[in-house]
Amino acid sequence: MNEQYDVIIVGAGPGGSAAACCLAERGFGVLLLDKENFPRDKICGDGIAPRAVHSLYRLSLQEKLEGRFKRTSGMRFYATHGGMTEIRYPMGSHYPDHGYVVPRRELDAILLDKAEMSGARVLQGCRVTGLLPQKGGRVPGLVAAYGGESIELAGRFIIGADGPSSLVGKELGLLSRNPLYMGVSVRCYMTGARGVSDFLEIYPEDAISPSCGWIFPVDEETVNVGVGYMLYAREKRRINLNRVFDDFVTRTRYAAAKLRDAQPRGRLRGALLRVGGGGSIPRRANVLLVGDAASLTNSISGEGITYALESGRWAGETIASALHGGDDSILDVYPHILEWKYGRYFYLGTLAIKYFNNPYCVNPLLFTTSRISRLGDKMGRFLMNCRRSDYPQ
Ligand SMILES: Cc1cc2nc3c(=O)[nH]c(=O)nc-3n(C[C@H](O)[C@H](O)[C@H](O)COP(=O)(O)OP(=O)(O)OC[C@H]3O[C@@H](n4cnc5c(N)ncnc54)[C@H](O)[C@@H]3O)c2cc1C
Repeated sequence: MNEQYDVIIVGAGPGGSAAACCLAERGFGVLLLDKENFPRDKICGDGIAPRAVHSLYRLSLQEKLEGRFKRTSGMRFYATHGGMTEIRYPMGSHYPDHGYVVPRRELDAILLDKAEMSGARVLQGCRVTGLLPQKGGRVPGLVAAYGGESIELAGRFIIGADGPSSLVGKELGLLSRNPLYMGVSVRCYMTGARGVSDFLEIYPEDAISPSCGWIFPVDEETVNVGVGYMLYAREKRRINLNRVFDDFVTRTRYAAAKLRDAQPRGRLRGALLRVGGGGSIPRRANVLLVGDAASLTNSISGEGITYALESGRWAGETIASALHGGDDSILDVYPHILEWKYGRYFYLGTLAIKYFNNPYCVNPLLFTTSRISRLGDKMGRFLMNCRRSDYPQ
């Protein structure tokens, strides 16, 4: 295998597939590879926020989603002494008035199909094991294990879309281990929950503080249930997430009432989140990082599909400009795009999450927003990163 590609994309999650669509539609030679064979499971809450819905519709995937997957009309927050706050999309923003819950097994397969149909070459079951040594300030390609063999692949540009433990990022020393920008969550599917709604339900309840839980409706029978916390919280006390999950299901005021008769479907599984933009440097030489590899999960909501889809597209557009103009220095723009689009928001989010996970702050906050809907909408726009003035592009 000694083909030369314009761009090699490592990882076929939302970030990698969005980048592949963008570049392949413009006629560039794109190789999209993933260590897994699709459809594959990915540990996630499966909640697709309106801003992500906009990106998916931009990829003409409306027909693949509508009628097949559970539509959501907003979010509900339950705090032990703060009551329930309901926020309906679009909260005065210009993004779609609905979200979805789409199991990642299905969502990522839909996106991978789209990338292949756009013209990208796809290699599944291909695990990248290292980068080729830099030559003249460029990474000329990578080494991968495929079909029991070690192969070398050459590309003019490389996109690391390989998630929070990004090998591409690690090899180039682009990932930090700052616990301020890292979280961990566990989730499982459950059947038989009471009162399944069409809202994403979020439970910052006292019994699991400083963790936060969620119950997201997959269909009329099934919910996606999980809990997570930010790693810096562990500096103060030891947290065992399996135990926190048990507490969530049995000892919380609101969530336990819904899950009392529910049965797990499959194992409880956990994964790392890299959040708030500060955990990675997004560019080195001819390599860009996108999505979780670039630490682009929302610190407050844990939502990362939006940011993976958007950063994948922007990385694709930046590399397309470099390929058109034959000038690699255009890649300098990419970190600035991320900073301009997300910098201030992620900075505020990283500060705010400490208060959101503290019962002394979240109970009065949710008590107030549950009574003044205008404040609830403001909070919703902040959590979803949708300002009134934003016109989706
Ligand atoms: C428990 C949990 C719940 C979450 N809930 C939500 C939610 O409800 N809504 C939301 O928007 N976000 C949620 N997130 C965040 C979301 O899952 C991520 O932000 C999103 O998946 C990032 O997409 P990505 O394309 O950057 O990376 P990923 O989706 O992680 O994709 C990376 C891909 O790279 C592949 N890969 C990795 N290493 C290699 C290698 N060496 N060689 C080849 N391939 C490789 C992997 O197989 C994978 O397919 C949640 C995260 C967790 C952990």
